Amino acid sequence: MNCDVVVIGAGISGLSCAHDLMLQGHDVRILERQTSTGGNARSVHFDGFLMEQGPSTINVAYPSAINHIRELDLENSARELGPNVRKRYLRDSRGLHGISVHPMGFFLSGYLSLGERLAMASEFLQPRKSDKTEETIHQFASRRFGTGFADKVIDPLAAGIFMGDSKSLSIAGAFPKLAELEQRHGSIIRGILASKRGTEPGRRLLSWDSGIGTLSRTLTQRLGTRINTGTAVLKLTRTTSGFKISTANTGTIRARAVVLAVQPHVAAALLENLDPESADATGAIAAPPIAVTYLGYHKNQITHELDGLGFLSTKNEGQIISGAQFCSTMFDGRAPADHVAISCYIGGSRSPEKTSLPDKELSTLVNQELSGLLGIKGSPVVSRTHHWPRGLPQYTLGHENRRKIIETAHQRIPGLFMTGNFLKGVSIINCLESARTTANLVCTSLEMKDGGVEDESASNMAQN
Ligand SMILES: Cc1cc2nc3c(=O)[nH]c(=O)nc-3n(C[C@H](O)[C@H](O)[C@H](O)COP(=O)(O)OP(=O)(O)OC[C@H]3O[C@@H](n4cnc5c(N)ncnc54)[C@H](O)[C@@H]3O)c2cc1C
Repeated sequence: MNCDVVVIGAGISGLSCAHDLMLQGHDVRILERQTSTGGNARSVHFDGFLMEQGPSTINVAYPSAINHIRELDLENSARELGPNVRKRYLRDSRGLHGISVHPMGFFLSGYLSLGERLAMASEFLQPRKSDKTEETIHQFASRRFGTGFADKVIDPLAAGIFMGDSKSLSIAGAFPKLAELEQRHGSIIRGILASKRGTEPGRRLLSWDSGIGTLSRTLTQRLGTRINTGTAVLKLTRTTSGFKISTANTGTIRARAVVLAVQPHVAAALLENLDPESADATGAIAAPPIAVTYLGYHKNQITHELDGLGFLSTKNEGQIISGAQFCSTMFDGRAPADHVAISCYIGGSRSPEKTSLPDKELSTLVNQELSGLLGIKGSPVVSRTHHWPRGLPQYTLGHENRRKIIETAHQRIPGLFMTGNFLKGVSIINCLESARTTANLVCTSLEMKDGGVEDESASNMAQN
């Protein structure tokens, strides 16, 4: 089989890159190891509940972000967060602290000490960083807002978004927009105020009645027979006019260009002989395991109002839950009438070992922990755990260098491209934007190449 482009991996990144290539008139084929598409983005319905095994929202605050949804005709059916999302909750050894979503929320709440609040509020007086040394998220936040804010707000946030450790994640890799705000406005607070005036992106979280899986399902339907599921790619070989892609059960496919939209450890293995530089860079991106434990309760079992998105936890050795979402407050239709649903996130780089506990034990421990925080009586009416043996990629110090090596693969090996959540952000929107950039690069490279795919006889000239 011959085609213009083979995209390996049908997660959001691969699907969206292939979709863009298809719209630009290319003959594209997607190979996916699993029997279904979507990768991390999976919405599962059972007993009247809707569990998001991976992502639960898409942030469309950037103008380009809403365009992705609009182009797929998914804007009108998208749902905003429910009206009861009124607070953000942070949890420390004392329990849960509800903080209003108002911009002054942190300043007015007693979660931070007076000294910590004053340090936070005087951020705009701190000088702009003048040297180019790379900082961790924690170093950046401590320098600008004080260590209390870094420990009690930013560290839980890094654990929530990346399931990572703010003391090892790079600010430039993980939160480039914050680093840019400092450089552009001299202060994050000034930058955020500019966002309120509409000059910088803010936050607008959406999903759909059938969950986030709507996005991958729509892309999958549009791509139709161009997708081969249950097809693991085993080997990539360079040929005179492109690549030979060897699969477990669909034989060999030849393509002029190839896009790897797989997890970084898979990319590292496939690139070992083809582009050792990219193999080293992708191989250095860890993705510690995550478990998502989803619990459903009857409303009368819970005293807490669940009037927020959920909660993020400060680091505490004795705790199992890193963060939780109040799914049935966020969107309608996540639980049957008179029931609520809560998703809890466990593991990541804080406590990867906890994900290996048996599901029953995880459910019991999570229920115990939630009971103390939310005033829950009894056992959940439903409980399910999903395991991600490779969770979210960690953008640790050095990430920007690794990213540049990966993004320039096509300069060393013409026709070789990568896209995915391990480059410029883990969110779905980041994946859609990276996928679009990659698709455009692929189109340019195909336009520059002469001729078509090599014929069978040319395969003898294949090089490793
Ligand atoms: C628990 C969790 C919660 C999250 N919450 C949010 C959220 O609320 N909002 C948000 O925006 N983002 C969230 N994210 C992040 C976001 O979901 C992911 O970053 C994104 O979905 C990754 O998409 P991807 O296509 O890059 O990678 P993946 O989804 O990992 O897709 C890679 C695909 O490649 C396939 N593959 C691997 N090897 C091969 C092979 N050899 N041959 C063929 N195919 C192969 C895999 O089977 C997989 O389908 C969350 C992620 C997780 C895990």
